[in-house]
Amino acid sequence: MQDKRNIRLAQPFLGGNEKKYVEECLDTTWISSIGRFIPLFEKQFAEFCEVDHAVACNTGTAALHLALVGLGVGPGDEVIVPTLTFIATANAVRYCGATPVFVDSEPRTMNIDPEKIEARINSRTKGVVVVHLYGHPANMDPVVALARRRGLFVLEDAAEAHGATYRGQKIGSIGDAAAFSFFGNKIITTGEGGMVTTRSAALADRIRLLRGQGMDPNRRYWFDIVGYNYRMTNIEAAIGLAQSEQLDRHLDARRRVADWYNRHLAGCHDFIRLPVEEPYVHHAFWMYTILLEKSAGINRDRLMETLLESGIETRPVFYPMHVLPPYKEQSGSYPVAESLAQRGISLPTHALLTEDDIRYVASRVKLHRESQTRVYAVGKME
Ligand SMILES: *Cc1c(COP(=O)(O)O)cnc(C)c1O
Repeated sequence: MQDKRNIRLAQPFLGGNEKKYVEECLDTTWISSIGRFIPLFEKQFAEFCEVDHAVACNTGTAALHLALVGLGVGPGDEVIVPTLTFIATANAVRYCGATPVFVDSEPRTMNIDPEKIEARINSRTKGVVVVHLYGHPANMDPVVALARRRGLFVLEDAAEAHGATYRGQKIGSIGDAAAFSFFGNKIITTGEGGMVTTRSAALADRIRLLRGQGMDPNRRYWFDIVGYNYRMTNIEAAIGLAQSEQLDRHLDARRRVADWYNRHLAGCHDFIRLPVEEPYVHHAFWMYTILLEKSAGINRDRLMETLLESGIETRPVFYPMHVLPPYKEQSGSYPVAESLAQRGISLPTHALLTEDDIRYVASRVKLHRESQTRVYAVGKME
C-alpha cells in the first residue's frame, strides 16, 4: 500500500515575481490602495481578457456588487441567476436591494440553462448573471441574444474562469461586464481580491467612482452619490501583477492536471462522469469536478470521507441557492441543479500537483468503488 499523502484541494502557486514586488511595496511604504501596481495589474488583466477596461477591487463579491450597481440594479429590481452557484452571486444581487430569480442548470456543463431563462423574465427583470461554473464557460450566445431582445444586461460571474474562452472569445469580454475573484483558491490569487472587466468606458468610470466612496475625481471630498470602500491594496495588486504575468502557465498546469485525471480515470465510466468540455469552449479547469452516476449506487459523502482518510481533500458541489435559508423557495423546480449538487465532487486541482498525485487520487477512487461493489456482492449472497 502507498503511504498516506496530504493532497490539498487547492493551493496557490507563487513562483514568479510575487515576493520581489511585495518587497518593493514594503521598501517604498506604498502598502495601501495607492501605488504603481494597481494600474499595472488592471492594465495587464484587461489585456489578458481582451477588453479596454479593468477595475481592481477588494473581493470578487465586491466586483459583482460594483458591476450590478454600475449596471443600474436597485431596490425592487429582479436579476436572473443560476441556482447552482456560490452564494456570492445571489448575495451581490441582494446587496442592491434587488431579488435574485433562479434558473435551473444544463446537465452537461452545470451552467445556467439558456432555454429556461425567458420564462423567468418579467417587467422588473434588469439583467442576467451567468456563472462559468468550475471554469467551464456558460453558453453565452443564446443568453446574449435573449438579453438583447428583452433589453437586459448580461453580467459574467467569471470568478472561476480566468482565461477560459467561448467560441474563441475570452471570458470576461462577452457580457456587458464581468466579475473575477482572486481569493486564495482561485485560478490566480491576490490573497483576497477582485476585478471588474468591461468594454464600456462609461461603466468603468462609474465603477471606479463607486469603488472609492463616490468621490468626484475632479473635486476632492465632494460626493454626489453613496459609494463604497472596495479598493484593492498595492500589496494585493503586486501579487496580482506577478500572478497574471504567468497566467498562461497557471492555466497550462491546470490543463495538465485535467488531462492526467482524464487518463487515470478512463475506464470508470460505469460509475463516474468526467467533466465535459464542449467543443466551442476552452475550459479553465478551476476545479476538476466529477459526477457520480446514480445507477452505481455510491454514496457521495462516503466516498469523500474515504478519500480524506487517504489524505485527499475534496469538496462537494455547491448547494443550490433555492435550498439555502436566505433564498429558500417552497415551490421552485430545479431538478437538474439538485441532482448535480448531490452527485458532484471536485477533486484536487492546482498547479503544484504531479502526475503521481493524480494517479494516487484515481487509484483511491477506484479502490472505493471496488470495496463498495464487494460489500454489495456479499450483501446479495447473504
Ligand atoms: C469565489 C467566487 C465568488 C466570490 O469571490 P470572493 O473573492 O471570494 O468574494 C463569486 N462567485 C463565484 C462563482 C465564486 O466562485
